[in-house]
Amino acid sequence: MPHIEVLDQNTINKIAAGEVIERPASVVKELMENAIDARATAVTVEIRDGGLSLIRVTDNGCGIPEGEVATAFLRHATSKIRTAEDLAAVGSLGFRGEALASIAAVSQVEVITKTPEQLTGLRYQIEGGAERGTEEVGAPDGTTFLVRNLFFNTPARRKFLKTAQTEGAHVASLVEKMAMSHPDISVRFIQNQQSRLHTSGNHNLKDIIYTVFGRDIAANLLPVEYESEILQIRGFAGKPVIARSNRNFENYFINGRYVRSGLVTKAIEEAYKPFMMQHKYPFVLLHLSIEPEYLDVNVHPAKMELRFRDGDWFFQMIVQAVSQALAKQELIPEVTLEKEEKISTAPVVPAPEAPRAAQAKEPEKPEQKPEKSSPVRGPEPFEVSRRKMEEEPVYQSRPMYSAAAEKTEPAAGQLDLFEEKFLEPESRKRHRLIGQLFDTYWLVEFDDHLYLIDQHAAHEKVLYERTMKSLKTREFTSQLLNPPLILTVSAAEAALLERYRRRFEEIGFEMEPFGGREYAVRAVPDNLFSVATKDLFTELLDGLSDELLAGSPDILCSRAASMSCKAAVKGNHPMSFAEADHLMDELLKLDNPYACPHGRPTMISMSRRELERKFRRIV
Ligand code: ADP
Ligand code: MG
Repeated sequence: MPHIEVLDQNTINKIAAGEVIERPASVVKELMENAIDARATAVTVEIRDGGLSLIRVTDNGCGIPEGEVATAFLRHATSKIRTAEDLAAVGSLGFRGEALASIAAVSQVEVITKTPEQLTGLRYQIEGGAERGTEEVGAPDGTTFLVRNLFFNTPARRKFLKTAQTEGAHVASLVEKMAMSHPDISVRFIQNQQSRLHTSGNHNLKDIIYTVFGRDIAANLLPVEYESEILQIRGFAGKPVIARSNRNFENYFINGRYVRSGLVTKAIEEAYKPFMMQHKYPFVLLHLSIEPEYLDVNVHPAKMELRFRDGDWFFQMIVQAVSQALAKQELIPEVTLEKEEKISTAPVVPAPEAPRAAQAKEPEKPEQKPEKSSPVRGPEPFEVSRRKMEEEPVYQSRPMYSAAAEKTEPAAGQLDLFEEKFLEPESRKRHRLIGQLFDTYWLVEFDDHLYLIDQHAAHEKVLYERTMKSLKTREFTSQLLNPPLILTVSAAEAALLERYRRRFEEIGFEMEPFGGREYAVRAVPDNLFSVATKDLFTELLDGLSDELLAGSPDILCSRAASMSCKAAVKGNHPMSFAEADHLMDELLKLDNPYACPHGRPTMISMSRRELERKFRRIV
């Protein structure tokens, strides 16, 4: 056995660096957090080759005092806490004092920094943990870090990195998160010498959403606001039309940090449940401010996961805040005819397996600016924005949000062009029912919009709600089935029926054993009379289980009510004006008329402006 020796500091640093610095994005994260902690109001991040050859982070923060620069690179050197007790109240993003030491251990670092009190700045260089020189330089207030050739001295780690394109995409996505988490800071991102993102730092979250995610999303937001003593929620909930197929668009920040929390994710999705199809996830950008004593932020070394005290209460409040936002607005998906800049600006052909952010940035081709005047193209087929958004997110560079961009693009704040009043009772008499299209959709003109209502989805919704209401309020009459329906049930089903027979009876069913494994259904709630078949009962029973029934008393009602959907008028089916008018009457009065019980939209709308753009009356 070789003899035992304590490792030298350089080796310790290299090993420890591996825990903090995994890839270029980790360097950017640490440097941006430091800039934010230094109270910068503007931060510029520049990378080349995905950050492998160069990362530059420049801030206008407080700077590092001349005499402390070298110290800042020592492990466990921090200005942010002094003792372990301080940990409880820590308000800064970093406090472990490890980042700079780790970065310097595995790259070539140059820092130029100046505090407002000093007349000149300082340039300090350190490579692989070894100091390379210090000199006075002229510099503005603030700090610039240049990190070159990451992992130059740890080839094994370098091998683990992905392509420059993928690493660059990770950085891009991180910078976006940082920008979203700090609407008060102007964040600029330059990649391969091209500007990729520039937020204004004007505190306006919607501007940031517009800059990062583009117009489709910025135009479909509902404000979320909630305030109590220990919890504040601010931000935006995307309308269900911009739902996604994965959770990547559920952005939330807690006390300014990008963190993950199963509780918060669940609460958000719970609020969206009534409006969402299965396997769809919302867009949200929420800022939660929580009294620190209710949080345990330090459970995870990367500070990404966090735990709540009184989790149930927070869960309820988050659900409530998001639900309120969703309930306030009309949620009729709007049809867009234009594919917008997607066609003209998408410069990047993403690698098929690349994540969203990977598709975003790391241009191999020069950036193309969106054309201001639409090029003349052949007409495109109608496209419903909901459909479009269902596809895996298309993501591409966005026009930068700047004063110049504002002139050519509608300002983000003005994007909600249509304060829809379609559903208000006073509006009803101004709905002009134009007629039926394809034996399936009803066209309705109202103000400057055309609405299309899917008769099947609408009727399903109406029947479902009608039945649900009558079951819940017990305002039903039972209708006798003559002859009774005889069901043959399995032993498990028989047990379920027995256990919940009283519940069934309460909502208008009458059933009794009929010998052997058979049950006789003698009466059903009147709304279900026309659809009471054996098959439907089998379906109803299939859908029930002990856990379900025990979970929520409404579940039986809702299952029963969904049977009533079977009576809905189908598509491809002529319907009279009077019937359609009546259907609209009933639909528009519902609390949530936007989606059928299976989550499909009942109506969509198209603006006059869209049409006029399509006909090139306006550009
Ligand atoms: P931590 O952020 O955990 O304190 P770091 O290694 O990231 O540890 O930074 C060490 C110290 O260097 C910080 O505590 C801070 O005092 C100083 N520092 C780092 N970056 C900056 C910056 N951009 N502006 C001002 N001070 C900085
Ligand atoms: Mg730090």
